[in-house]
Order: sequence, then structure tokens, then C-alpha cells
Amino acid sequence: MTELKKVGVVGAGQMGNGIAHVCALAGYEVAISDVSEESLQKATKTIEKNMVRQVSRELITQDEMTAAMGRISFSTQLSSFADVDLAIEAATEKEAVKVSIFDGLLEAVPKTAWLASNTSSISITRLASGTDRPERFIGLHFMNPVPVMQLIEVIRGLATDQETYEMALKFAERLNKTVANAEDFPAFIVNRVLMPMINEAVYTLYEGVGTVEGIDTAMKLGANHPMGPLQLADFIGLDTCLSIMQVLHDGLADTKYRPCPLLVKYVEAGWLGRKTGRGFYDYRGEAPVPTR
Ligand code: NAD
Repeated sequence: MTELKKVGVVGAGQMGNGIAHVCALAGYEVAISDVSEESLQKATKTIEKNMVRQVSRELITQDEMTAAMGRISFSTQLSSFADVDLAIEAATEKEAVKVSIFDGLLEAVPKTAWLASNTSSISITRLASGTDRPERFIGLHFMNPVPVMQLIEVIRGLATDQETYEMALKFAERLNKTVANAEDFPAFIVNRVLMPMINEAVYTLYEGVGTVEGIDTAMKLGANHPMGPLQLADFIGLDTCLSIMQVLHDGLADTKYRPCPLLVKYVEAGWLGRKTGRGFYDYRGEAPVPTR
């Protein structure tokens, strides 16, 4: 099996920068690309800030940080993907966006490179079937924040071959992550369970059963969740939450997955959570303030 040396990451948002961070620390060369120059600049700063925090907590040394930062290249082009062994797509959760990224990747990466998607919910089999190498395509679903969270959900498409699966297991091991295998059905395991709970929390707010703070406090202290569901939704990104609910609703055709109209309204307003400064909480001041 080809040994992985270089990893390409498409999308430099919350997830892409985290994936680049852990890959570089594990010793891989990393190329990260995004259509937005602003996202790339933000990613550079975020990776640096998060590694500084790891140094201050003595989780890594200053030398390890310097070496890892030196292994990452940032670009709006895919030219630095010409020698990647694995390309991981971690862009916006929209199928059309992902399809066009994989079209571009086929031109940019070697014929033998593996392809992976970090999608939270979209069919791996369908994304793979649009490429020239469905057998070398796999779902690698990292959790947010990537440097902290232990899990990678690994999803094999119908055509994914054994070698590709074994590559994924070795890659996860090198990143010091634990794998959970999920079958390729809408939203896999984590989001099939988590997202209906978040959507229900938004319904609870929409119907006036509780306030933002009331709902989050109830679930933190009443169910021992480390974060309230609305706080978590803001952390994930409300656009991503809505896209996942739409995939569940369309893919399983069950009204129990109907996205809450209030979630739709927040996304329409561009209040996408932490990443845009406002969601169920307003993050623009010193401390988060509920927006309802
Ligand atoms: P994000 O909004 O923070 O970042 C998305 C990035 O993709 C942006 O920087 C955007 O400029 C870039 N992008 C959009 N179109 C592009 C294109 N054509 N080419 C290159 N870059 C493009 O989103 P995120 O939270 O990082 O989510 C990214 C992916 O990871 C999604 O598929 C999401 O479902 C998945 N995911 C998210 C979480 C989470 O908690 N946020 C967890 C696991 C997986």
C-alpha cells in the first residue's frame, strides 16, 4: 500500500483548519486550499493560536509546533495538490459544492491518490460515484474541534475497497484518533442521533417551551451534557445543522426530521452561530448573550 506522506485539505473553515492542524502535527506534509482568501488567513491564525495553546498546556513542544506549522502550505489554488496521497474535502455542507470540488480534484491530484469527504451527512456512495475512483473514496468524518475530539467516523461507500479502508484505519491511528464505523446512510451515526435532538431543542424554543438559556441549562444540568443543544448548534454552525436535517428529511422521508422553521429563519438571516458572531447567542460582546 502507498505510504501516506502528503495530505491535501479542501476547505479552510472550522473543520479544514482542524484537520490540517492534526495532520501536520502527526508529521504529514499538508496543503490546504479554499476559494476564500479570508478563510485561509483566518485558518493560519486559528491553527497557530490552537497550537500555542497546546504548547502552553505542554501537550506539544515549541519545536514540534514550529515543525508542524512549516509543513502546512496555504493556497486558493489546487496546484500544491499535485503530489498529495490523500485529498480530504472539508468544504461547505452542500452537495453541489462538494461535487464541483471533486471534479476539480480529479484534475489536480495524482491518479492513485485517495479521496475522502468530511461530510456530516451526504451519501459517500453518491459523491464517490461522480469520481473516476469510487473504490478509492471514503468518508472520514472528523469531530469539531478536531485537535480535541477523539473520534473519526469512517464511512465506506458501496464501492470502497479494503485497501482504502485499511488506509483510513492507519491514518486515524497515526492521528491518535479512535474510529467508529458507520454504514453509508443519511447522517451516519453521530448526526443521525445528535441532529434530531438539536432540531427538537430549536422546536422547544420555537414553541415557547423554554428560553435559549432555559433549554441549555436544562440539558446541561438535567441530562449532564457538557454543552446545551443551542450552544452546540451555534458551535457546529446553523447552516451545517440545517443542511444535515434536510439530508435526513429527504433521505429518510420521515416527517420527524422536518427542519424547525426557526432554524431556517436563523440561517436566512445569516446568523450561523459562532463563526458569524451571532446565532442563538450573540458572541460580539464580552460574554455570549441569548438572541431570544
Ligand atoms: P465552515 O463554514 O467553517 O467552512 C467551510 C469552508 O469551505 C469555508 O472556508 C468556505 O470558504 C469553503 N468553501 C466553500 N466552497 C468551496 C469551494 N468550492 N472550494 C474550496 N473551499 C470552499 O464549515 P465547517 O464547519 O468547517 O464544515 C465543513 C464540512 O465539515 C461540512 O461538510 C460539514 O458538514 C463538516 N463537518 C462539520 C462539523 C462541525 O461541527 N462544524 C463537524 C464535522 C463535520
